[in-house]
Amino acid sequence: MRYAMAIDTKKCVGCSDCVVACQLENDVPEGYCRDWIVEITTGTYPDLQTEIRSERCNHCANAPCVRCCPTGASHFEDGGIVLVQPNECIGCKACIAACPYDARYVHPDGYVDKCTFCLHRVKKGQQPACVAVCPTKCLYFGDIDDPRSKISLLLKKRKWKTLIPEAGTDPKIYYLI
Ligand code: SF4
Ligand code: SF4
Ligand code: SF4
Repeated sequence: MRYAMAIDTKKCVGCSDCVVACQLENDVPEGYCRDWIVEITTGTYPDLQTEIRSERCNHCANAPCVRCCPTGASHFEDGGIVLVQPNECIGCKACIAACPYDARYVHPDGYVDKCTFCLHRVKKGQQPACVAVCPTKCLYFGDIDDPRSKISLLLKKRKWKTLIPEAGTDPKIYYLI
């Protein structure tokens, strides 16, 4: 079992519904977020291309945030999901410095927080909140160890990229391009 997410950059419209759904589902404090939208324009006028994508923790298989955590608060959970155990976190911010994706923030209560792939929902057989709410259905979540899963089939069929592959973190968010 290896959980991953695929995000179709051809279908994302940047509506931010995924961001709002995450904030409500996970009680993310006002002014913070666990996922966010990035819009990048490339090319030279008038031949411009814009990519819109929803970003979050990459649940890296080779996660520097887990490696550097002095207390074990940052750890791997079921299916390779990277989580933070709030009551074991001393707020040292080593993981924030180690993450190449800027995926973590310090919660006002003093511990570090980030995307959990909504493991609490996944355990009940539900999709992560962002996936469930997306109006264009451009987020896919599932088990990439299962060759018959929708995400595995998509990754076989479509071209994809990961972010900052040179960091060597083996990210598990795949952007369909
Ligand atoms: Fe893109 Fe879907 Fe998020 Fe809207 S809800 S910004 S379409 S990923
Ligand atoms: Fe850790 Fe950052 Fe990778 Fe998430 S994206 S697993 S916080 S290194
Ligand atoms: Fe670990 Fe918390 Fe320090 Fe991050 S801030 S490295 S989770 S103890």
